[in-house]
Amino acid sequence: MKRQNVRRLVIISSMLLFPITIYYLSPYVIIQGALEGIINGSFIVFCALLLSGIFLGRLFCAYLCPAGGIQECATLIQDKGPKQGWKNNIKYVIWVFWIAGVIVSFLFRSKELTVDFFYMTEYGISIANIYGYIIYYGIILLFFVPAVLAGKRTMCHYICWMAPFMVIGSKLGTLLHIKQLRLEAKKESCVKCHACDKACPMSLKVTEKVQAGNMRDSECILCGACIDGCPKKVIAYKMK
Ligand code: SF4
Ligand code: SF4
Ligand code: SF4
Repeated sequence: MKRQNVRRLVIISSMLLFPITIYYLSPYVIIQGALEGIINGSFIVFCALLLSGIFLGRLFCAYLCPAGGIQECATLIQDKGPKQGWKNNIKYVIWVFWIAGVIVSFLFRSKELTVDFFYMTEYGISIANIYGYIIYYGIILLFFVPAVLAGKRTMCHYICWMAPFMVIGSKLGTLLHIKQLRLEAKKESCVKCHACDKACPMSLKVTEKVQAGNMRDSECILCGACIDGCPKKVIAYKMK
């Protein structure tokens, strides 16, 4: 099976498991836990995303994120990219206020610090009662509707509270000179066919990056679609 088919299979499988995993990725459950002094599943998962970003950038977004899977399904209806630029920075502003909220919640917690990975779940399952489905479908719509109305992976670009963890992790890895998964391109082999631009799920101008000799972009999720879509094998993964 080709790499992009494997990637889509994995990310859509993750989407199907979202009723189980949703609370481990929730921006609300971490605050609820913090108020009670509980280091919960979402706290631990967000720390893991930061750590993974050091070595693997935003690879989680390409292969594992259920919300990424929801948005990839929306490309069956809408395959255009959203407008990018300053709007991509909205997610960092949201993240700063939200993290401040988490810190304040821990500072004013009502109990001693404890760890409970399965906090607010039943036997580890997030959506275990009928009311949970209101939250579940609300989140599905939150990701699906913007992807249909504004363009593919709009929430990944503008709003997502998880992306900054990986971006910060990646920048930290660069700062510490740690070997990271990256893209590398042989500019001289490029015939400017723009197939990579069309393949990119994050609507990045990949040809421009190849020509500029700089493949780094905090919006790149390292999915490898540009690698697989290039007829001249210009782009490749590198650990460096
Ligand atoms: S940016 Fe956020 S919503 Fe999009 S794939 Fe990454 S973690 Fe998921
Ligand atoms: S698909 Fe390959 S050859 Fe075509 S523009 Fe992109 S990098 Fe260049
Ligand atoms: S630039 Fe390539 S690896 Fe990065 S998101 Fe676009 S297609 Fe995926």
